[in-house]
Amino acid sequence: MRIDLHAHSTASDGTDTPAALMVAAVAAGLDVVAITDHDSTGGWRAAEAARPPELGLIRGAEFSTRLSVDGRHVSVHLLGYLFDPTDVAVLAEQARLREERMSRGMAIVGRMVADGVPISAQQVVDIAAGAPVGRPHIGRALMAAGVVGSVTEAFAGYLSGRSPYFVPKADTDLIDAIGLVRGAGGVCVIAHPRARGAAQVLDEARLARLAEAGVWGLEVDHPDHDGAARAELAALARRIGLAGTGSSDYHGHNKSVRLGQERTGPEVLAALLAAASGSVTKALGPVG
Ligand code: AMP
Ligand code: ZN
Ligand code: FE
Ligand code: FE
Repeated sequence: MRIDLHAHSTASDGTDTPAALMVAAVAAGLDVVAITDHDSTGGWRAAEAARPPELGLIRGAEFSTRLSVDGRHVSVHLLGYLFDPTDVAVLAEQARLREERMSRGMAIVGRMVADGVPISAQQVVDIAAGAPVGRPHIGRALMAAGVVGSVTEAFAGYLSGRSPYFVPKADTDLIDAIGLVRGAGGVCVIAHPRARGAAQVLDEARLARLAEAGVWGLEVDHPDHDGAARAELAALARRIGLAGTGSSDYHGHNKSVRLGQERTGPEVLAALLAAASGSVTKALGPVG
């Protein structure tokens, strides 16, 4: 079984529509794919409608959260799987995050426009096409204007956290986000714990505390993790009693990773399905 548990669609900052993501999953030889858009379940319905019967679909979302460490906020991404998308607390937080992403995206664009960068707010809104606004949408506007050659290049400069144009957003507190997903019957996995900023603070003691707070697994195999990070995380997950997943974090043309490039073991998927208790999941069946 080939299983990829982390992929983005046009319902956030990927470039494949949810339907195209299902086609791409089959083309990549996957048996199961998860749709995990940022702060949104907006792609679930279209993905489900387009899913061929032989493909399993795990419904999920990737929440941008912040962990408070010594008065500092560190960005941590949390994958929530198989939670009830009609849960009122989840809906309220997703609505807040969408507004937050819109105003923050517009603030970044405003700084660029004020500096003479030839893009516009309307252009970015059009590119996002109703999805929660993310920096990759601004990256595509910068590409269209010929300012950068790729979204990856935009992230190295204009869109980086160190760029003068950067504006942070008010992400959900990590512990609150875990509570939201669990409260809606879902399962929590810490996304790419050894990527970028979070790596320094997500040491064994802190991950053990997050496990106590309700986290079920760690994303061990991820394109941003080198061999040493994977080995360290796999051992650490075993010691703390967390599951280890593998996934590509596919974004279509916005990133160079291939769908299915990293994968999750079938026994891990089976345990994930068993750990979910969402009423909607039970009603629809956990896979598809
Ligand atoms: P934002 O959520 O608006 O802060 O934008 C950051 C998101 O952009 C990350 O979570 C990634 O999923 C996504 N992204 C897409 N392409 C890239 C890239 N080349 N480098 C870094 N992040 C990227
Ligand atoms: Zn993304
Ligand atoms: Fe992420
Ligand atoms: Fe992601």
